[in-house]
Amino acid sequence: MIIDAHVHPWTRAFMKRNGPIMKACDFFKLDVSKLPSSTDELLDEMDEAGVAMAVILGQDTSSTKNPAFKNYTLRNDDVARIAAKSGDRLVPFAGVDPNAGRDALRELKRGIKSLGMRGLKVHGSANSVYLNDRKLMYPIYELCQDAGIPVLVHTGTTGLGDTEIRYSKPELVDEICQSFPDLKVVMAHFGWPWPDVTVAVALRSPNVFIDVSGWKPRYLPPSIMPYLNGILQDRFLFGTDYPMLRQKEWLDDFRVNLAPKLKPGVSEKLLGANARRMLAL
Ligand SMILES: [Zn+2]
Repeated sequence: MIIDAHVHPWTRAFMKRNGPIMKACDFFKLDVSKLPSSTDELLDEMDEAGVAMAVILGQDTSSTKNPAFKNYTLRNDDVARIAAKSGDRLVPFAGVDPNAGRDALRELKRGIKSLGMRGLKVHGSANSVYLNDRKLMYPIYELCQDAGIPVLVHTGTTGLGDTEIRYSKPELVDEICQSFPDLKVVMAHFGWPWPDVTVAVALRSPNVFIDVSGWKPRYLPPSIMPYLNGILQDRFLFGTDYPMLRQKEWLDDFRVNLAPKLKPGVSEKLLGANARRMLAL
């Protein structure tokens, strides 16, 4: 079973309202006219590519001061509604704005209890909050650890404009894992340009997963290959960063450029088995 662990339920209209996302489209050299016009297209594309399930990510910048992100929030109710329509194929992760303090905790509790959210997405750069911020982030991690849900954190550089990388450096995740040893953490985009730091964090923290989203398989840095094929083969997750990359184009590239380099059994782990463990399916 193939699971895409990193999907944004964005439409072309939503993306066009967000300057930082349009800058990301330039970064990825995307043809804007080919972006999805509705979230229903996601399931069609998954069918075409043979992808059974996907994690769809919420996002909340409603209390963030950066004016570039004023239209960036996707309401948790909307993310949950898209997931509910999918017949369990889309797994919703909540978004909360850590700048909202206690209200963020309330919203996360509501997301888990009333909306069926099964994880949390954090993008420190979009929220201008350091991933290891003790005051704003730690209560959120504590809640996730207690609820037994994973946190997917953006790590490394970002295509999003009007942001700073410093909030999302992968070394910050080490402190989170040391403080919350039972929390499952997904480090998105293998923290590039610091994939070696990401690997180092994962090596000392057994609950860390690493998603390879945002990168076509042919471009994965050679330095992560021994870990993907070896000691960390149970931790890497397939993800596209849809709609920036699409499932079919990723998997077509994978079959030609990455699968032949993988040891027996590693493809199955990367494409779905590890995500099942991360999601406790
Ligand atoms: Zn993403």
